[in-house]
Amino acid sequence: MTSKTLPYVGRFAPSPTGPLHTGSLLTALASYLDAKANHGLWLVRMEDLDPPREMAGAAEQILESLQHYGLHWDGDVWYQSQRHQQYQQAVDQLIAQGLAFYCTCSRSQILAASGSNRYPGTCRNCSTPPNVPHAVRLQINDIDISFLDSLQGLQRCNLFQESGDFVIKRKEGLFAYHLAVVLDDAAQGITHIVRGCDLLDSSFRHIYLQQVLNLPTPQYTHLPVIVNEEGQKLSKQTYAEAIPHDNPTPLLLHCLELLGQQPPSTLKQAPASELLQWGIEHWQQHNIPPIRALHPSAS
Ligand code: GLU
Ligand code: ZN
Repeated sequence: MTSKTLPYVGRFAPSPTGPLHTGSLLTALASYLDAKANHGLWLVRMEDLDPPREMAGAAEQILESLQHYGLHWDGDVWYQSQRHQQYQQAVDQLIAQGLAFYCTCSRSQILAASGSNRYPGTCRNCSTPPNVPHAVRLQINDIDISFLDSLQGLQRCNLFQESGDFVIKRKEGLFAYHLAVVLDDAAQGITHIVRGCDLLDSSFRHIYLQQVLNLPTPQYTHLPVIVNEEGQKLSKQTYAEAIPHDNPTPLLLHCLELLGQQPPSTLKQAPASELLQWGIEHWQQHNIPPIRALHPSAS
């Protein structure tokens, strides 16, 4: 296979809504090991796109945690807050091409018109900015999107039926995650995306955007996400604790095991750098459980 010569560029793209917790460490670790086992680069991008949801100091805290756990990134950290101009350019371009439109609908109007959250296409012909607050939506055609996830297998979705035209710039003026992530992954030359399964359904939107923007589609790997006893993903909202900084070894070992890797018992006291080196040399992506949710207490 010639793919051996393909450069690998991976990334970890946290939102600074809270500190790094076990769930986000698992994603960071898997994306790091996958990149390094493939002699690739591992970039970090701070997705600080939504100030009302962010926590002061979280970005710095996340970067500090990554360093403590030996997860050193390549190059400079990108910040989405510094890329609004690029996002706006893409929005303008899509509108000019007739692929996106201005939308003034409220949630209740959408519900009344479609009986669901699916956008019924009401404002599709609106190509001049209205004088009232408005979002920008991408026009979705009735086609199937499919991709082969390295871990979860073949995925297929018809966005037209599932969501309809979706928002790429919000009414408050904030850019949608879906738009920013696609533009940045392309601008950073990302070839492989390893992230949590909570974003698997978002991938269809990303691939659709890549197609209309003429951008390449990276290889996707969606990892199982750690859930709590109630089956909820660990997040700030579900009180996921910040990972400890005093001794990274036990948590790194635990995460390696959750990822289906089998570190030998001789590494029980090993420093982070040694564990990561072992992880890179022995990385077996296909040993990651191909499921969507992990219940660590049950393992
Ligand atoms: N910023 C997103 C999050 O923290 C992840 C984005 C991605 O990996 O595509 O959930
Ligand atoms: Zn509308």
